[in-house]
Formats: sequence, C-alpha cells, structure tokens
Amino acid sequence: MKHITYLDHAATSWPKPQSVVDAVVHALTEAGGNPGRSAHTIALAASRLILEARTDVAALLGVRDPRDLAFVPGCTAGLNLALKGLLRPGDRVVVGSTEHNAVARPLHALEAAGVRVDVVHGDSAGRIDPDDVERALAQAPTRAVVCQHASNVLGTIQPVGDLADIAHEAGAYLIVDGAQGVGHLKLDLTALGADAYAASGHKGLLGPQGVGALYLAPGVEAVELTQGGGGSNSEEAVQPTARPDRYEAGTPNTPGIAGLGAAARFLLAEGDAIRAEERRLTRMLYEQLLEIPGLRVLGPPLGEERVPVLCVVHDRVEADRIAFELDSRYGVAVRAGLHCAPWAHATAGTAECGALRFGIGFGITESDIDLAVRAMHEVCA
Ligand code: PMP
Repeated sequence: MKHITYLDHAATSWPKPQSVVDAVVHALTEAGGNPGRSAHTIALAASRLILEARTDVAALLGVRDPRDLAFVPGCTAGLNLALKGLLRPGDRVVVGSTEHNAVARPLHALEAAGVRVDVVHGDSAGRIDPDDVERALAQAPTRAVVCQHASNVLGTIQPVGDLADIAHEAGAYLIVDGAQGVGHLKLDLTALGADAYAASGHKGLLGPQGVGALYLAPGVEAVELTQGGGGSNSEEAVQPTARPDRYEAGTPNTPGIAGLGAAARFLLAEGDAIRAEERRLTRMLYEQLLEIPGLRVLGPPLGEERVPVLCVVHDRVEADRIAFELDSRYGVAVRAGLHCAPWAHATAGTAECGALRFGIGFGITESDIDLAVRAMHEVCA
C-alpha cells in the first residue's frame, strides 16, 4: 500500500494503537465465547473482557458506576436511544443549530410523532450562548436540551457544563452528542452533569468501528429501543430494568468492545500527551492554511479553543476537487462535502458548496502537516 498521510480522524481514527488491534485479535482467538450466556471457560473469558472494558471506559470518561455506561453500536445508536427513549409526543426539546444528522434526523422523526423541536441559533462559529438557551427554556415547558459537545465541521466546543445547569434549573434533561468530544477533550462526565452523553468508540477514543457507549446518569431511565435476550432473568417476558442489561439485548460486539477497552487503557496512559500534540498540530496547520491565498478556515478564529477539526473553503477550487487531488497526487486523506452536518454548514454559509475537512489525531506528525500544506498550496495555486 502506498504511504497515506491520514488526516481524516474526525471521520474515524486510523491507524489504531497496536494494543487495540491486539485486543480485537485476542477477543476473536482466545475469548470467542458468548459473554454472559454460557459458563464455560471461553465464554467466561469473553464476559471478563466486557467487564474490564466497561470499567476502563468508565474510568476514562469519569463515570463513577460503570453500569451507567451501555455499550451501543456507535454514537448514532446511543443518540437514538437517548432521544427516543426519553422523549414522548407532546414533549418539547431545545436543540443547538450545528447538530449532526445523528441528532437532526432522529429529532425530525420525533417531530413527526408529535415532539416540538425548537432550535437555538449560535453565532457564525456555531457558538451557543447559554443565555439564549435560558431564554428559550423560559418560553415553554421543555423536556430536554440537546447539544453536541463539539462540532465535526466548525471544531467549536459548546459550553455543555453550563447548559447542564441551565437545563436542570428548568427541569429539563441535557442530552449531549459527544462524538467529537471524547478522546480529544479530557472528560469527567459525572462533574459535567449531562443526563445522557453518547460517545463514538471509533474516533478520538481510538477504538474499532461499530462500537460506542451511552452514559445515562443515575436515575435517568430511557425506555430501551430493543428487547431481547441478555443471559439474565430469562424466565421473565419483560425486558430487565437493571443496567446495563436493559440497553444491551442480544449478543454484543465483543471484539469491538474489547478493542474499545484497550483504547481506553491506552488513553488513560497517553491521553494528555496525545491531546497536547493534537492541539499543537492543529494550531500549526491552522496558521499555515491561513497563508494560502483564497482559503477561508471555518469556525472559531486562530487561538480560540477547538477540537482538532479544521474545515476550509477556497474561493475558486471546489472542496471535492481538492480532496481528489490530495488523495490521488499526494496520498493525503481528507474529507470533502457536508460531513453529515448540513446544519453546521448552513451556520458557516457553506451549505451549497460544502467544505474540505482536516481531522487531526493520534499518530500525525509535523511532516504530515508539512506535506498537506505543500499539497494545498500546489492544488489551490
Ligand atoms: N455526531 C457527530 C458530531 C459526528 O461527527 C458523528 C460521526 N460523523 C456522529 C455523531 C455519529 O457517530 P457514529 O459514527 O459513532 O455513529
């Protein structure tokens, strides 16, 4: 395979730490039984992997009781569970204006089922003002505030801690899309105060695709979307209400969960250094992109905190064209288009043209940034 300069971490992180790869292989080769079901050695080994993974992901995310974390297929699945499990016809939600389709589409479906959805608009960088949310909550009884932790287009970090306080004062839940927050931001979910926080396993957490986690704060009971077997209380027709079994019907993605557990252990050891390097390289890339004539960087200005995502638009060369040239001529992998987030692009004024996104993450070096910048200069010349 030709050398690839991988700058698409906001879509999915790659390559993964070797310990994550090893953990997936180990799960498939040494612990391939069905966890929580049979009681033989190979099934118990699988159960142990899941237990360890839940404990370590909880430690990484600052979740006191690991049973408050349910493993789900991804952030999208976690958000669907939180939204559809907590909202009922007649409820009102207040939602941010840069949400990903993983929030926008379930809310659109819920709207059709009788949930009222009111959007609070941020500024051109997508920043939501907590005072605007407070004003929106004062207008009508509200069941939930829904907001992303960070934008996958603008890089903007939302004040979710403040939003939790404001939501709670109004008697509402705070539901957070944490897809672009986890891994890139140091988290203490217990202190943050969100009632539901959905995480992707495969982005900043450095785990495999097809696995994520949903945190539901103690006492926040979402109705499960799937009923089925779990290996416990099998004599009863009703879905168990104990956590996490309530939300994990069916055979889990044991290899993926084992990989996620290894990724959590890796980040517990290396996370601070990785985050510092991500911030340094993001700033370096930002500074150098600003020197390219005709190029505009979306989101907060240089110097303001952001997650390691930089979207750019050129006044002449289309994003799709740049992405194709970067890949085919330089082996630089980036993503062009709307990034499943038309609301965020509407905020930035790029809904028609889309943008080109650089996603920084674990394993990227200064020479990767240098190559990408040189390629951008040449393609946009
Ligand atoms: N929300 C945001 C902001 C995202 O960037 C993504 C991934 N593109 C998702 C939700 C969906 O995450 P997942 O791929 O884990 O379902």
